[in-house]
Amino acid sequence: MFEEVRELLEKARGLNGLEVEEAAGLFNVKDRSTWEFIFEVAADVKDKVYGKRVVLFAPLYLSNYCTNNCLYCGFRAGNKDSERKALSVKESVKEAKCLENKGYKRLLLVSGEDKERFDLKKLTEVIRAIYDETGIRILHINAPPMDVECLKEIKGSGIGVYQIFQETYHRATYAKMHPSGRKSDYLYRLSVMDRAIEAGFSDVGIGPLLGLYDYRFDMLSAISHSKYLYREYGTHAHTLSLPRLRPARGIPLKSPPYPVSDEELKRITAVCRLALPSVGIVISTREDKDLRSALIKTGASQISAGSSTEPGGYSDGRHSEKQFDIIDDRPLEEVMTSIIKEGLMPSLCTSCYRAGRTGEVFTEKTLKGEMGNLCLPNAILTLKEYLLDHARNGMKQRGNEVIKEGVQGIKDEGLRGKVLKRLEDIENGKRDIFF
Ligand code: SAM
Ligand code: SF4
Repeated sequence: MFEEVRELLEKARGLNGLEVEEAAGLFNVKDRSTWEFIFEVAADVKDKVYGKRVVLFAPLYLSNYCTNNCLYCGFRAGNKDSERKALSVKESVKEAKCLENKGYKRLLLVSGEDKERFDLKKLTEVIRAIYDETGIRILHINAPPMDVECLKEIKGSGIGVYQIFQETYHRATYAKMHPSGRKSDYLYRLSVMDRAIEAGFSDVGIGPLLGLYDYRFDMLSAISHSKYLYREYGTHAHTLSLPRLRPARGIPLKSPPYPVSDEELKRITAVCRLALPSVGIVISTREDKDLRSALIKTGASQISAGSSTEPGGYSDGRHSEKQFDIIDDRPLEEVMTSIIKEGLMPSLCTSCYRAGRTGEVFTEKTLKGEMGNLCLPNAILTLKEYLLDHARNGMKQRGNEVIKEGVQGIKDEGLRGKVLKRLEDIENGKRDIFF
């Protein structure tokens, strides 16, 4: 291995991140054994930053009406035969309740862009109703770019992370992929995180849609984007999602112009973990179960599970258009069990957003390696709740063993004592207690 690569990896191991040029250097590595070493260091960095926990969530699709025409998306306006649906407030709550009954605590709201069919007023009503009428503890959102005033309203209704994907940072490709509608304005989309932060969001989520353009260009741009946010506002992107293009019905883009292989996705995940140690790396059900297992061991820290990409897909028997086909269709419990099998800890934690550990505070704590002491106890407590309230017998026994091992792994005696006391409180019926 080149001395230069070894030095970069040692720098990254110390949670110092990587410069964009250094990340570019890693993408150029050809030798397989060097990559194995890069994966190992990425796993080590993930462990230092977040410990063993892997956070779980589900998307909740609110509407598939859309006035844009993205060439890759089943919701595009040009998809004339698609079955459209915009959930009412009541239907949205029903979906959230259905997910709550399966054990989810955090949801990501998703919708197409059509102000006539799903406007801001309805969105904020949905958000408030889900908080008021269900036990869902935090809602994040993946919604079209807006102006500061609208973003303030969304923030005010209690959204945690505002997430939006640039799709591609390559301007000519962006123009080709987004021929009409508001989304064709590249700069309006690129600048949305600045507006979101101005509107009061401390946590924002970014991501490229892998497959549209050369992944090296898009990943280095996404890394630059996060570094820009850190320079300007003291906070890195809270999450970096790594969605790969999937087939969808009624789209002109029949195959990805720049396909990304499984091995390349693994490399991308690892390099992002090294370059941006504090960032939550999100992998969705667009990937299969084996690859997802590999990715949570090479730097990914959050995954969705049991997802549907159609509005009403969880509780309504009537079919409407899916955004794209998912691959990993295992239910939450199966995904949690597989995380345990990988020697990691499934977590349904939502505490940071509610304890004020967001934005700069979150970034600083993670870069100092101080989050692990909170993530592990919170993962243990939420897993305990899940085992008591939702798990079937098969998972219960293994889950309780993992909790025991997790508690033993807490080095600080005082903290260990507190976790044990809270576990007892949960056994006795208390819920939603966290650090
Ligand atoms: N409509 C809004 C927008 O485009 O920003 C918000 C959410 S959109 C429903 C969520 C994301 O799904 C898009 O940003 C895009 O990256 C991704 N997506 C769309 N079509 C996809 C496909 N065929 N395969 C994988 N991901 C896709
Ligand atoms: Fe509409 Fe978003 Fe799909 Fe584009 S990606 S067509 S904006 S829902």
